[in-house]
Amino acid sequence: MTQVTAELEALLMQRSLTDEALEAAADGAPDFRILPDACVIKIGGQSLIDRGRAAVYPLVDEIVVARRQHPLLIGTGAGTRARHLYSIAAGLNLPAGMLAQLGASVADQNAAMLGQLLAKHGISAVDGAGLSAVPLYLAEVRAVVFSGMPPYKLWIRPGAEGVIPPYRTDAGCFLVAEQFGCRSMIYVKDENGLYTGNPKTTKGATFIPRISVDEMKAKGLQDSILEFPVLDLIQSARHVREVQVINGLVPGNLTRALAGEHVGTIITAN
Ligand code: ADP
Ligand code: MG
Repeated sequence: MTQVTAELEALLMQRSLTDEALEAAADGAPDFRILPDACVIKIGGQSLIDRGRAAVYPLVDEIVVARRQHPLLIGTGAGTRARHLYSIAAGLNLPAGMLAQLGASVADQNAAMLGQLLAKHGISAVDGAGLSAVPLYLAEVRAVVFSGMPPYKLWIRPGAEGVIPPYRTDAGCFLVAEQFGCRSMIYVKDENGLYTGNPKTTKGATFIPRISVDEMKAKGLQDSILEFPVLDLIQSARHVREVQVINGLVPGNLTRALAGEHVGTIITAN
């Protein structure tokens, strides 16, 4: 046993598992990324998949080519059908855990459809992105599709107010990217990125090419283009310290973003 391991073990036996010295010692091991070359992309539910063929087919074409350069974990959003379910279930006074399951079923449907479109290229939708055969898929066909909702189900931590599950598909995809130490996290949506206000409802909203989480909060934009808990996930991340939100309706944007180009809004941890 190395000295570091012995020290850590001694601390673990004696202290609370959230003790500061213990946490620092547990953090001492060198950085390790499980899938360092992979890129996670989230295909928006409401913003893209709900638009059907016009939005989805061009993205499929880009994915099929881009995966040759970049191994892809492709997460799906849920969208309008999930919002419909949330409104019914909330009206019935059902709790967040139930709504999380309902939302997950819609993200599953979108993953199933995207999987069918990519099937002839050898790309499958997998049940849960929690690794298992994912490295093999990436090695062989360089892409997999997964359902973006994090599998908290009934055990989701409810939000401070209301019953809408706070961790939805933006969070689910981010957590996959961070867990596996992936190279990048790209959100593919239907606007060029973040604006000073919702461009669909705010006249004269201006585009913000780059912003930190703190600046976003200071400008009151924490609840805008990404689910707000994702901002805190970015700030506490070890690996994925920035994400890019891009407009997937513009042909070529996804390919360029995967190549590391700045085509949307980059949101940084600091
Ligand atoms: P997804 O389909 O991935 O779930 P959403 O529809 O939840 O994506 O989020 C994208 C939407 O966020 C955009 O279509 C836009 O209308 C909205 N939005 C709200 N505030 C902003 C903002 N400040 N800047 C850009 N988009 C915003
Ligand atoms: Mg959304």
